[in-house]
Amino acid sequence: MACLFGHKWKGCKCENCGKSRDEQHDWDLCKGKCKRCGKTQAEQHNWNGCKCSRCGKIRDEQHAWDGCVCSQCRRQRYEQHKWDGCKCTICGSIREEQHIWVNCKCTNCGRALTPKDVEKISEQSLLAEIAINSKGPAVSIAVADKLNDQTLAQTIYADISRSDNVSDDLRLTAIKKLVDQQVLADIAKSNMFAPLRKAAVENMTDHSVLIEIINGDKDIYSCSWVESINEGDDYFSAAKNNSLDLRKTASKRLADLR
Ligand SMILES: [Zn+2]
Ligand SMILES: [Zn+2]
Ligand SMILES: [Zn+2]
Ligand SMILES: [Zn+2]
Ligand SMILES: [Zn+2]
Ligand SMILES: [Zn+2]
Repeated sequence: MACLFGHKWKGCKCENCGKSRDEQHDWDLCKGKCKRCGKTQAEQHNWNGCKCSRCGKIRDEQHAWDGCVCSQCRRQRYEQHKWDGCKCTICGSIREEQHIWVNCKCTNCGRALTPKDVEKISEQSLLAEIAINSKGPAVSIAVADKLNDQTLAQTIYADISRSDNVSDDLRLTAIKKLVDQQVLADIAKSNMFAPLRKAAVENMTDHSVLIEIINGDKDIYSCSWVESINEGDDYFSAAKNNSLDLRKTASKRLADLR
């Protein structure tokens, strides 16, 4: 339907035929678009600092920083925090300082204590408390390393060396720190994992136990797991090789000590 006698304009658009003209647009300034015909132009916001007061759009300029957070758009930056110990009271960020360790957990931020945290602790009463409440062998070893109380430290190493619930790596670490000859002798003679027996021998200072290991294989073969296997089994030859190896290690250790 053509408008033969002139269009009936409403703003930029004819109500009759739908034709549009480039005047009297009905601009949505924030979207930069005519609401009637869809023509576009550059967006024009009503900026109030970082935020458009009309549409709420945020720009990364002119923030109203209150410490680490913009009070207008809540954007965060990693500076000017307000620290309360390990935690920022404004944004909740955590820093690795001033944790308050109780029962192996920080009462302020809730994080669980790790061996790395223990390395930074020197307060002996706190270390002793952690030793009692430790949730894992890695933390326990880290604590023992920092304790002045060598008796307690050795008890921790001994417990970890003997525990079946601890990984071989951590047991090895603990064994290397043991000085208790009785515990080392027990491990050297009866632990079923050859690298642990070897580590115990390498750390031993008691000549008589070393000589005992060099001279007799009875103690080594008396491990319960070896008893349950027969000559000719793969395990048997492996066990025999391990015990020969252990005797060699003991000989070398004894020579080094003499
Ligand atoms: Zn028309
Ligand atoms: Zn228009
Ligand atoms: Zn806007
Ligand atoms: Zn802002
Ligand atoms: Zn903050
Ligand atoms: Zn904390």
